[in-house]
Amino acid sequence: MGKQMVWEEIDRKAAEILDASDEIWGCAETAFAEEKSVKVLCDLLRKEGFEVEEGLAGVATAFKGTFGSGKPVIGFLGEFDALSGLDQEAGATEKKQIHAGAPGHGCGHNMLGTASLSAAIGIKRYLEESKKPGTVVYFGCPGEEGGSGKAFMAKGGVFAGLDAALTWHPGDLTRADTGSSLANYQVAYKFYGTSAHAGGAPHLGRSALDACELMNMGVQFLREHVVPEARIHYAITNTGGYSPNVVQPYAEVLYLIRAPKNKQVEEIYRRVNKIAEGAAHMTETRVEIDFVKGCSNLISNKVIAKRLWENLTELGAPEYTAEEMELARSISEGVGDSRFESLEKVAKSCNKEQKKEVLAHKGESMYRFIAPFDSVGIMSFGSTDVGDVSWNCPTAQAYVATWAAGTPGHSWQVVTQGKSGLAHKGLIYAAKAMAGAAVDMYENPAVIEEAKAEMLETLEGDTYHCPIPDGCKPRAIGMTK
Ligand SMILES: [Zn+2]
Ligand SMILES: [Zn+2]
Repeated sequence: MGKQMVWEEIDRKAAEILDASDEIWGCAETAFAEEKSVKVLCDLLRKEGFEVEEGLAGVATAFKGTFGSGKPVIGFLGEFDALSGLDQEAGATEKKQIHAGAPGHGCGHNMLGTASLSAAIGIKRYLEESKKPGTVVYFGCPGEEGGSGKAFMAKGGVFAGLDAALTWHPGDLTRADTGSSLANYQVAYKFYGTSAHAGGAPHLGRSALDACELMNMGVQFLREHVVPEARIHYAITNTGGYSPNVVQPYAEVLYLIRAPKNKQVEEIYRRVNKIAEGAAHMTETRVEIDFVKGCSNLISNKVIAKRLWENLTELGAPEYTAEEMELARSISEGVGDSRFESLEKVAKSCNKEQKKEVLAHKGESMYRFIAPFDSVGIMSFGSTDVGDVSWNCPTAQAYVATWAAGTPGHSWQVVTQGKSGLAHKGLIYAAKAMAGAAVDMYENPAVIEEAKAEMLETLEGDTYHCPIPDGCKPRAIGMTK
């Protein structure tokens, strides 16, 4: 009964939510610069009677909207940042930029933030009608791309006091996530040397670029001696200039260090620092270690994920028009052989019978099936700042098909489909599934107790320590997914 009412409310307000998603698609603001997108979401929250608080934890574009009182307190996480350089004409079936170099919503966060808001609005109606105690909080989480906004919010205690958190991510197929993801640190190593004429007086120069190269070489040797799941990537973000006849006085290399657990990342980070200092010694340069951001590994919660899965199953995938299917077909076929990757990845976690069922969808342009519930969980070698929320309260996320089968992440194909019927229907479906799972928890608080017990068991006595050091301010450098 409660659930039907919530789903009807989501349908009733769908037009406004879809307009907001399209508007945020048009704003396409990158990490920590999401002023216009924040306004769209906050205006909607205020209109719906939520109490809005902006600038959380010292992050200008972090905010929350609260409705209700008492326990349980359930949060919905929304993202809304875009990616640089991904501007794209909506609906085009080939790469077509209108504003060269401008940002675009290549990760579908225009849908992500608005669907979570839609779920929160549905729950507000539920709390009003049922007169049950309980609070719903919508969290506006900026700077997911390369910025780990939620980790900064978590450091400020924003997620403390939550009983559960729900979120989702757009994708090419629908499933409840029970896997984990890697914790990471992003650190800039800045080398300061001495400039000189490389031909006339090389003996007077001390090369910062040499130091960068030696550091990278040292890290190559380190890779054999870390846990096998660790990932250490780098980009030389400043080579010191374009002139080989100058000894470069300044150079900078940006590292992204990942491992399954925060403690492992911390340990590798300390060893990478020693290598950087060693490189500085070797070249008689100076190194400055600049911590950019960090995020925690994801502690997925199977109790709540199962509820998400059940609601996704109960609702069933949306129906698509011939026009929507034509867009999906065109995009999917254009991707080439790699378009089966997500399907094959899901099939790997299935038993023999399920595997056959999943692989039977091979060749479809738009996946409408719900992947079997995976009680083990697929380990993602990427990272998400949802991880930092998941150390604070039981957290679950769904992936919902909002784009054509095989659509690559962070691509023009995501942007082009971002305002289509595929996106709109997927985001409403995601909103309903999340709201349905939340109703399950308000109706039956034992689910939350069970989820909390699972979380404690997974943490094995560990508690949350935000990986970001004191004084580190949020900023966006590069992309880290
Ligand atoms: Zn992304
Ligand atoms: Zn994303």
